[in-house]
Amino acid sequence: MAAKSEEQILRYSMLEDDPNSNSLFAEKERKPRWGPQHAGAKELASLYTKGKRIQEIISMLVAICLFIFNFVNLVKYFRVDNLYFIALSSIFGILTADFASGLVHWCADSWGSVQLPIIGKAFIRPFREHHIDPTSITRHDFIETNGDTFAVTIPFMLYSSYKFCYFTNDQIRDTYNWECYIFLLAIFVSMTNQFHKWSHTYFGLPWYIKLLQKYHIILPCKHHRIHHVAPHETYFCITTGWLNYTLEKIHFWTILEYLIEKATGYKPRDDDMKWAKKVD
Ligand SMILES: [Zn+2]
Ligand SMILES: [Zn+2]
Repeated sequence: MAAKSEEQILRYSMLEDDPNSNSLFAEKERKPRWGPQHAGAKELASLYTKGKRIQEIISMLVAICLFIFNFVNLVKYFRVDNLYFIALSSIFGILTADFASGLVHWCADSWGSVQLPIIGKAFIRPFREHHIDPTSITRHDFIETNGDTFAVTIPFMLYSSYKFCYFTNDQIRDTYNWECYIFLLAIFVSMTNQFHKWSHTYFGLPWYIKLLQKYHIILPCKHHRIHHVAPHETYFCITTGWLNYTLEKIHFWTILEYLIEKATGYKPRDDDMKWAKKVD
């Protein structure tokens, strides 16, 4: 299969946004194909529970405390001759975060279902909701947007904190460069969904965010639209999107899906399709 060019996919995305187009999911009676009034979107939004909210608040508080503690220690043990590595590690940190965002996003979009115990409602539900109501993310507050990505960083930040507490000065010096990489990676991972939210926000963004998007330092709006073309099968990276073009070119996701389908018999995005076709 030939890789779709960015221009081609964008053209499809324009069609998808046209309410008069005969898209794959358009119902004869013109039920909403997407948006807050879509039956699936309403049901998914109602599954955001108080317990989940509490988990997000706790995760965020713990992660922020760990970020501050590790940052203070990184400053404390900073040496000027490390500057070069810090610059390098920030690039690798961004690339790793971008790849990780793609991998997690692809997993959640393509496999599993909202009915799965524990992770279904807590982690897969927001991905399903996002495809049928892409603007819902812009109505989520900071905690709902970023709770999960902050939570992911906790084990890594906890381990770094442990090292700063219990390692000797020499041991910390030996591991310092690695800790810089992990710290920057964690910062970009934790901010991934915020960058994603901004890529769906067309009005009222501060000028400096627009500037970061314009120069593709964070995920640009136009670039992310490519992912939002049904059946949502490419451009999964949502931190900066730097890796999307290359991964599409080498058919990375298609090959992975082919191998998984061959081994397990499961078809990618079955659950996602079900929610998209849902009617009242
Ligand atoms: Zn998606
Ligand atoms: Zn999106």
